[in-house]
Amino acid sequence: MERLMGRILVWLAVGAAALLVLFAVAMRVPAVEDRLLDKALEQNFTSRAAPLLDGDGLKVFFCGTGSPLPSKARAQTCTAVFAGGRFYLVDAGTGSWETIAAAGIPGGKLGAIFLTHLHSDHIGDLSEANLGSWVGGRAGRLAVYGPAGVERVVDGENEAFALDNGYRTAHHGESIAPTATAGMVAAPFASEAANVIFDEGGLTVTAFPVGHFPVVGAVGFRFDYQGRSVVISGDTAYSQTLVENAKGADLLIHEAQANHIVAKMGAAASKAGAANTAQILADIPSYHTSPEEAARAANEAGAEWLVLTHLTPAPDNPVAKRIFMRGVSKVRPTNVRLAEDGMAVLLPKDGAVAFAFF
Ligand SMILES: [Zn+2]
Ligand SMILES: [Zn+2]
Repeated sequence: MERLMGRILVWLAVGAAALLVLFAVAMRVPAVEDRLLDKALEQNFTSRAAPLLDGDGLKVFFCGTGSPLPSKARAQTCTAVFAGGRFYLVDAGTGSWETIAAAGIPGGKLGAIFLTHLHSDHIGDLSEANLGSWVGGRAGRLAVYGPAGVERVVDGENEAFALDNGYRTAHHGESIAPTATAGMVAAPFASEAANVIFDEGGLTVTAFPVGHFPVVGAVGFRFDYQGRSVVISGDTAYSQTLVENAKGADLLIHEAQANHIVAKMGAAASKAGAANTAQILADIPSYHTSPEEAARAANEAGAEWLVLTHLTPAPDNPVAKRIFMRGVSKVRPTNVRLAEDGMAVLLPKDGAVAFAFF
């Protein structure tokens, strides 16, 4: 009996190996390769992002959850807020437009960009967002809201990409790349006190000052639509103004910098003789918020959910995530998560908050 079982197992193993070989050979047949390619392309061009654009309430998509410190898994800061079939970017850090495109989000549905401040990690992909939304069928020039100084950034971008705009029109014609809607328009707003800077179709966006000294004019944003509210901190040290403006929010998206890890990084950089890096790591704690402080802010605001983003340094494995979140559960045991690129939060007008990935 045992010998028979042994033989059966051997034949099963031989059969499995033969199937694997057959599969490997089949995958190299051009007709099979073409079939796989066609199938993948078909899926690629169907609207996978429909749950973000359709339906009521607010939805949030994380297009960049990293920081200036490098991470292969995360683009630099970008949060997309969906309302009424359009989306709005809060910041457009380097690599973030690729995350939008990879999720199948139609670029032409971009309504506007809101900049929290003008640090490089928040504006690096402005030109990509501009190009992608323009040839995607955007209705007008792209409005870029921001604190004082946004005019300089937008003027510079428009100048830097003026030649490229011309090339695109030459390649694809006026119907796809119309000269009349090429480029961006700056929409500066006062940032000394909280004020509504956008009010369209029931969506209001309120800008409020935060503390990111020595940057002057940095803000956070509150989105209100159909009874739902999402607050985005921007870059800030723990901020009482943020707490006041996040009162009762369904979702607070707060930047987080694990200063206990940053201190270790600084020591390691110093030991390795990387003096400039060590100094930069010593400078940054004063103008950012630790995960525990962000949890405290969410509690004080009475926010239902807290999602941490602009993760410094980006925790890209389970051990790093646990170290990053050390101490948070004592302050806020539930309803707190780390953002990931491609993660979404769905906040329907009626019904529970849900998380999804695109
Ligand atoms: Zn930043
Ligand atoms: Zn900043």
